[in-house]
Amino acid sequence: MRNIDAIVIHQSLTEDGDELNYGGIVDSHIERGFDREGYHYIIEKVRDRVVAIAGRPLHNFGAHCTQNKMNHRSIGICVCGCFDHHAPSKEVYEVLISLCVDLCISFNIPANCVYPHSFFATKKTCPGYLFNITYVKNETARRIVKEIEHGS
Ligand SMILES: [Zn+2]
Repeated sequence: MRNIDAIVIHQSLTEDGDELNYGGIVDSHIERGFDREGYHYIIEKVRDRVVAIAGRPLHNFGAHCTQNKMNHRSIGICVCGCFDHHAPSKEVYEVLISLCVDLCISFNIPANCVYPHSFFATKKTCPGYLFNITYVKNETARRIVKEIEHGS
């Protein structure tokens, strides 16, 4: 297994409607010359429910953030939506946070190593102005402590 010490969060810049975004993301990344989607997870609405869909296998390097060797070191999660225009729904935050908690515990990643893409790609807003990364980090940290205290 490669060394994983961070999680990088992205937005898809496509609205999350009734259509599945996953296929479009795979196509656009293949068009850019990747062998498959660059993200390890894609979070989107499938019928009435928000789910995390597994993309690229975790043991593979990602193709989502070239700065700071992040493709080598991190897990890339893409949340479907345009969060420069509207905030993510509560349901989207819930699915993302529980995925971050699981990954942080499995790979021993500290919650403060959950980063917005824009932390590294400073010219981008990704995952969006209205995406509350502080909330995601704080909730992830709080729930990791809870999980560890109560066992699972
Ligand atoms: Zn991004």
